[in-house]
Amino acid sequence: MNQNSGAQSISKRVFLFLWLTCHLFVFSVNSIAEDTEATLATVKLTPQEESFLQDHPVITLGSDLAWEPLVTANPDGSISGYDADILQRINQLTGANFTLVVGNWGDMQSKAKAQDIDGLSTSAIIPERTSYLAFSNPYLTLQKSLFVSRGNPLSIKNSDDLKGKTLAIQKANQSDVELAKQFKHSTILYLDTLEELLSALSTGEVDATFGNAATLYLANKLGMPYLQAAFHLPQQLDLVFGIRKDWPEAVSILNKGLSLLSNHEKLRIQTYWFSGSPQADTIKENKALTLSNHEQSIINNAPLRLCVGPNWLPFSNINSDGNYQGVTADIMSLIAERLDTKFTLTPTSAWSESIDLIKQKECDFITTITPTKEREEFLTFTQPVFTSPIVLATQLDQFFIPDLTSIGDKKIAIIKNSAIRSLIRSQYPNLNIIDVSSAQSGLALLNEQKIFGYIDSLEVIAHQVNKEHYINIKISSTLSLSFDLAIGVRKDWPEWVPLLNKAIQDISNEDKQQIRNRWIGITYDRPIDYKLVSLIITILGALVFLVVYRYRVIAKYNTKLEDLNQKLAKQASTDQLTQLPNRYLLDKETQRVIAASQRYQEPFCAVLFDLDYFKKINDKYGHQVGDDVLIQVTQEMSHSIREVDILGRWGGEEFLLICPKTSLDGAIKLAEKIRIHIEQHHFIEGHKVTLSAGVAEFNANENYHSLLKRLDDALYVAKHSGRNTVSHSEIETTETTETTETTETTETTETTETTETV
Ligand code: GH3
Ligand code: MG
Ligand code: MG
Repeated sequence: MNQNSGAQSISKRVFLFLWLTCHLFVFSVNSIAEDTEATLATVKLTPQEESFLQDHPVITLGSDLAWEPLVTANPDGSISGYDADILQRINQLTGANFTLVVGNWGDMQSKAKAQDIDGLSTSAIIPERTSYLAFSNPYLTLQKSLFVSRGNPLSIKNSDDLKGKTLAIQKANQSDVELAKQFKHSTILYLDTLEELLSALSTGEVDATFGNAATLYLANKLGMPYLQAAFHLPQQLDLVFGIRKDWPEAVSILNKGLSLLSNHEKLRIQTYWFSGSPQADTIKENKALTLSNHEQSIINNAPLRLCVGPNWLPFSNINSDGNYQGVTADIMSLIAERLDTKFTLTPTSAWSESIDLIKQKECDFITTITPTKEREEFLTFTQPVFTSPIVLATQLDQFFIPDLTSIGDKKIAIIKNSAIRSLIRSQYPNLNIIDVSSAQSGLALLNEQKIFGYIDSLEVIAHQVNKEHYINIKISSTLSLSFDLAIGVRKDWPEWVPLLNKAIQDISNEDKQQIRNRWIGITYDRPIDYKLVSLIITILGALVFLVVYRYRVIAKYNTKLEDLNQKLAKQASTDQLTQLPNRYLLDKETQRVIAASQRYQEPFCAVLFDLDYFKKINDKYGHQVGDDVLIQVTQEMSHSIREVDILGRWGGEEFLLICPKTSLDGAIKLAEKIRIHIEQHHFIEGHKVTLSAGVAEFNANENYHSLLKRLDDALYVAKHSGRNTVSHSEIETTETTETTETTETTETTETTETTETV
């Protein structure tokens, strides 16, 4: 159980990690895309390029009047179009001023050759032109495509599908005439104008034609937007700028500007011009369908009351302002646009209330509802406006579940009385279904691990998981089921169904996809292979788990080792009873102070303390009391010394004090102060604890051992002078042998006032 929850918490972290990584990745990609324009402002020009621009403030490029949407001459004399936008961006990026002039294409070429203008726009790399022009990199590649009428009714997907079909070709278009020769098994119809060609396509007289993005544009412009690309042909046309040959700087400046234009930006400009934007706008403005008088009379007849699910995001919701919102709200407004009418929302607070109202004919339409037999008693249904996959959500650590029958009697929550519930019940009669009131409560139960899974539409689960930040819930299975959302119409208004269907059919899949993405916040371009996603997440998860686990184990042991080492180091140098430095550390520290003293020629002193008659304390009060006295004595001594002084346990009831940068006088005073302090302190009731001390100043000519010897000697003197005494060793600067040292005791209050010389 513990292992389980441990594994879960790790897998949560793993998921969070993956989730964050993905988001960071997406975020950075997005910000790169968004920042592109901002960061592009600086093109590094060479000094030659800069002086070239100074000498040539305007560079004129000629183009053909007839090349819309690449170049469009406006009535006010200005020139717009794809080429104009690209050049404008290049000008912004480089500080150059490339300007378009238009005219007859043949004239333009002559002018460029004569250097009356500086080059050509909308040019192809043609050998004849290389004698007088140098070319930039391509700024647009036009793909030749096979065009069919909108909706591709014959499902033409490749060249083979053209066998037995009719192809329309513009007689004057040499390259298309050549290309048509490859389609021997098709009937070729040669026509004069593009307009003829498009109308032949839209009436079904021909099945296909050749074209490129510019064809689409012209079709839109001619008001015949009835075609679409079925597949791309291998032929491509690269468009480049051509510049007079003696101006290589202009070519390199163009290329620098082009290289900084992201594909994204080029595509944006391309979409704008080639979708026939000006015409597309007029089409958009009036989306209303052409309706018969009968259809119009149906619409005019009615106050159109609409009931909706008030709490079913992302599909439908009535917000706090009383507005209808969600996927179905957007779709309903597109339908209203098509029918040039308005629906009036009848607000409710529950789905069941909406159902009741339409039963009582207090509402005329209900969105967006799954057709069921039971509901057919009081409703007729339109064709589906939206189809949603039904999916199973589980905890993150579940493996992909191929089939619901494989999960046995584990608890699966589904919304009570929902269409999904009856669908699942009829398909999987043995499933252990737990009824919940909403997706919110079902997913909350799942999050708390009280149930095995929750089944609902992908959109609803995705929305709720996003909203609640459930990071440990995933989609484990896409069931082979989906449910349709349609508009329910009151049973006595059947004439509305074909009318609504007509509007529904007019809404493109792209529009629906956009609406879905807007409300769900996830892209669902193509059916997601959850099996693959599950597998990838599992493998990635396992890898990350291993790495994280290994790291944690190593880190744990490292910390343990570090702790242990620190403990060992401390143990090796600390006296366990008094927590003072032990003899080992004292040795090291004293050597260090000796070295410093020798280098900087600074005096230092050492004091060796020994508790008087300590054996007696042990004997009289026991070893434990003796220990306590040792601890307390060291505490009292520690309070009396400076920060830089080093006090350590020399052994037994002996302590060594090192006083750096201290003269003999100072050290004697300090030892005396400590002696008096200990003498006056009450350690044991009715028993005086005293100590004796030997003091010595380090002599630059001696070594560590001789210093210790002198300390010992001085202490010996102190002991023999009656204890509770401080004695010191005099330095004989001329002699370095230990035997010649003199040791003196200082006077004490209680003991004899003798001074001994050894
Ligand atoms: P003097 O001051 O004259 O040297 O007499 P003394 O009894 O203090 O000296 P001696 O060296 O004869 O005895 C030292 C005693 O200190 C022996 C030992 O029992 C006691 N002692 C040493 N280490 C410890 C300790 O860690 N705890 C306790 N309770 N006693 C200790
Ligand atoms: Mg002693
Ligand atoms: Mg002793």
